[in-house]
Order: sequence, then structure tokens, then C-alpha cells
Amino acid sequence: KRHADRASAADVLALIDEGAFTPLPLVGESLDAYRARGGYRQLQALRDGALPVETVFAELEAAGLRGMGGAGFPTARKWRLVRAAPAPRYLVCNADEGEPGTFKDRVILEEQTHPFLDGLLLAAACIDADRCWIYLRDEYPAAHALLRREIAALEAAQLVEPGFIDLRRGAGAYICGEESALIESIEGKRGYPRQRPPYVAEAGLFGRPTLVNNVETLALVPTILAAGGARFGALGGEGFAGLRSYSVSGRVREPGVKQAPAGISTRQLIDDYCGGMAEGHQLLAYLPGGASGGILPASLADLPLHFGELEKHGALIGSAALIVLSDRDDLRAAVQALLEFFADESCGQCTPCRIGTEKMLALFEAPELDVSLLNELAALMRDASICGLGQAAPNPLTTALQYFPQHQLARKRDE
Ligand code: SF4
Repeated sequence: KRHADRASAADVLALIDEGAFTPLPLVGESLDAYRARGGYRQLQALRDGALPVETVFAELEAAGLRGMGGAGFPTARKWRLVRAAPAPRYLVCNADEGEPGTFKDRVILEEQTHPFLDGLLLAAACIDADRCWIYLRDEYPAAHALLRREIAALEAAQLVEPGFIDLRRGAGAYICGEESALIESIEGKRGYPRQRPPYVAEAGLFGRPTLVNNVETLALVPTILAAGGARFGALGGEGFAGLRSYSVSGRVREPGVKQAPAGISTRQLIDDYCGGMAEGHQLLAYLPGGASGGILPASLADLPLHFGELEKHGALIGSAALIVLSDRDDLRAAVQALLEFFADESCGQCTPCRIGTEKMLALFEAPELDVSLLNELAALMRDASICGLGQAAPNPLTTALQYFPQHQLARKRDE
């Protein structure tokens, strides 16, 4: 199936190249339209020295901007670290959006192509990058076509040197969304995550200091600079900074990408942004961060959806992919699908994850659930796996065991 998907993405791309097919929505704003409303002015000011780099950092700090790919590292701190490292420095945008349930980066790339490219170039100017790479999920042919068209427009307008931005196609591996595996992939190697330290900010792409940022993080930068960091930060929920994009799917009336205050609760997001639960469905559970973020019960639907509070309950916000399950869904089947996903996507480099994901699935499929053994295996995977995949793979199961009665998770007698 995976090969069939990839073949069809390549076929679509070929048709777009020939001009024979215009995918919908090919809606990215044109360069002229974006410039007419002030786009790339901050970039010009930064390059001319009229806008000091320190001011940009201060605005990002005032906005409370953190990495929206999942790790949540403060953006200005990361940019400062790379800027302070010796040249040549590189910038890599992680557009390999592969977390199940996450689709906000695709929408941003397709609908806010220039704000994203503006943010990319602002970041490049701030760290004085020698080159940029965009590593794009190959299943996004429309985004690919738009980016290629608009990067060419930037080059023609002499806003960027030809070849400065290198647009790379991912090859379908979930693990290549992990920053060091992504870097290995750009270098032409198998996408194995690296041991840290050294961190990629010190020794990343081709051994050089590298800034890796997610699409949404970069796309927010021009807005923050235009609005002012403090003003943007004040848009967040109580105790949280700014807006963020939530990918909402599952049993709601109006799923989709919702730009909402950071720290909004699941209940508010469903009621105020998604038109409530789908007809005839009651909220049973939700996944706050796609496959990796764990499963929480309806009784915890008032927790703020952002970094911090969810972790206390064994869950993660990750890339803010909210998947809503109802009383008509099969919780056991959902957990099983997630465990199968991780066993399938483990890159196999380290034993705790390669063997652990398969063992966890086998234990889950056994006639009786051995909860203590499952929790022991989960602790080992968290402690000893090299990267976030193996560390987060137990989350769906451990949270389900913690918050739901075992009869909802155990195999049915006739299975
Ligand atoms: Fe690969 Fe899993 Fe180890 Fe990460 S934790 S390096 S995905 S085997």
C-alpha cells in the first residue's frame, strides 16, 4: 500500500510538472500580493541592518514562541545558540509532517506559502545561514508544486540567491521527521537518528551547526514581528503564550486545522471551534498529540492543550494533533493500531525500541493483559531508546492502562 501511495504522489507531481494538472487547492498567495501587504519588509530591514537581530530575538521571546514540531524548545534560544556557533551554519526546515493525525503544516504550506518562506528567510538571516534545506513529506505534491513555484518567484525577484533554498522530498519514513534522522537522510544516508550529544545546533548537517525548525514555527515569525511579540503572546489562553494550529480529527462535527489560543482545552476546542461532537457521539477519549501523545479520558478534557500540564498526566501535546474518540469507537482497536504503527515504523537501530515495540504488541494481543510486565517494558523503552520514537511508543498503552478500565482494553473472549 505504501508503495502504491508513493507511486501515485510521484505521478501527480509529474502531471503538475507538465502543466497538465493543477491540484486543488493550489491557493498559495502570490509573491506580489504578499509584498503588497508588507511581506518581506522585515527581512529587507534585517538584511539592511535597520532591524537588529537582537530585536528579532527579543520579539520571539516576548511572544513565547516555542518549537511547534513537538519538542517545544524556546525558538529564540535555539536561534541564539546556532548564531553563536562557528560558520558555515545551515538551516533545515522540517516539513516531513508524519505524525498520525497531524496535517496543519500541509495547510500552512498550501495556504500561507509566503509567510512560511518569509519566516524561513528571516531565520536564515538571523543565524547568518550559508544555505537552507526544506525537507518536505513526499505525500504533499500540491505543497511541493507551490513551494517550487514561489521559490522561483523569490529568486526572480532577487529576494534570494538561486540555489540558496534546496527543496528535498522525503521518502515516506516516519522516523525521518526526527531531526537527526532527517539530517542523515539529506546527507544521502539511511534515516537513523543520531546519539546526542553532540546536538544538531553544534554538529548537524554535514557536521556543521544547524538550526532545525518546523513549518508552523517559521510561519509564525513574520506575524510576530508585524504584530509585536507581546501582543501576539497575549493571544494565548491564561498562562500560555500566543496562537497555535491544532489538527482536529475524529468524531467532531467540523474537523480541520483550527488556529486557537495556546492552552485551550479539548472541550473548548471541540465546542467552540469544531461545532461540538458529531451527531449521536459522546466524548470517550482523546489523543492530544497524535500517535505519540497518549490517550486521555473525557474526564480530563478540561486540561490545557499545550506544553506542561499534559505531561503531568503521562501525555504529550507534540504537534497538537487532537484525535477525538467517542463512545462508539473501540478503544482496544485504537490502542492496537497505534502499537502496530510504532512496531512498523521503528527504524530498528536500537534494541529497546526494535524489540520493545514488537514485544509490547505481542503482550497486548495475549489472552490476558499482564499490566505489570507491560509497564516494566514501557519504562525500559523510555529509559533506553535512542530517540523519541522508542521513548514515546508506550504512551498510548500506558495512558490507556492508567485511565480506562481493563475490560475496555482486554481481548474479547471470542477474539
Ligand atoms: Fe530507531 Fe526506535 Fe531506536 Fe529511535 S528508538 S533509533 S526509531 S530503533
